[in-house]
Amino acid sequence: INWFPGHMKKTKELVKKNLKLVDVVFELLDARIPLSSKNPDIDVLVGNKPRIVVLNKQDLSSDEANKQWIKYYEKKGIKAVLVDAAKGKGTEKIISITKDMIKNKMERLKEKGIKNKPIRAMIVGVPNVGKSTLINSLAGSKSAKTGNRPGVTKGKQWIKLRGNLELLDTPGILWPKFEDEKVGLNLAFTGAIKDEIIDVETLALRLVEKLQEIAPLPLKERYSVEVEDRKPIDVLDDIALKRGCIIKGGEIDYTRVARLILDEFRNGKIGSITLEYPDNI
Ligand code: GDP
Repeated sequence: INWFPGHMKKTKELVKKNLKLVDVVFELLDARIPLSSKNPDIDVLVGNKPRIVVLNKQDLSSDEANKQWIKYYEKKGIKAVLVDAAKGKGTEKIISITKDMIKNKMERLKEKGIKNKPIRAMIVGVPNVGKSTLINSLAGSKSAKTGNRPGVTKGKQWIKLRGNLELLDTPGILWPKFEDEKVGLNLAFTGAIKDEIIDVETLALRLVEKLQEIAPLPLKERYSVEVEDRKPIDVLDDIALKRGCIIKGGEIDYTRVARLILDEFRNGKIGSITLEYPDNI
């Protein structure tokens, strides 16, 4: 990932251009961090084009938090869907909501004599929220690309979905908000940005601290360690001892224990844990 502004500006322009071609936008968020994984410019970019907020990685996020987020969007009058793109869960709902949203527009077209015009959609989101996975999941095995006849492949590639829907085969990549340290940490915890941005040991320590605060029980149960009223470093040490992350001479292997905790958190092994709730706004 290259974070330099020139690159960001270029991708934003591309997203803007592609947005003009579609009837509906699927804004993909990571359900564990719906605030940190949201591009701050997206609302302006999308304007008043129909939009569905897709909260992906439902399997890795807390059911209670998911309910709260759906309610939050409902109140704002925005359609939101919970999805597990990796397993293909919730994708049908995206299609049915889209058809519903665009119904009036299609009927108006029909009255004008324009029939069977496909509904076009595109997926946008920051890196690692699951855009490619969702495209594959929506496309399914029966998918067919349109407009990819040899020789005329220069244009956009549209994937035919059920219900007269077409999906742009390349997602719109946007960038998260960087100025806020909390956002950076949340993105790093979930693996959206590379570990190089902050060293793994510090990152894992911050994660332990965060989990002590928001999910003490899952942390305690996963590693059989005491977590209440303790310094994060002491908890980390205990986890290292329990998991045998020790170097010769009996010292703690901080790199190993850090990687272990981060991996297990990212894979949902510590639990289905959401880091941001609507209350945090
Ligand atoms: P993109 O950068 O937005 O295109 O994200 P990818 O589609 O490459 O997905 C990033 C990572 O998240 C991959 O390892 C996917 O397998 C994983 N992933 C995507 N959707 C889900 C999901 O719903 N649940 C889980 N557990 N993993 C997912």
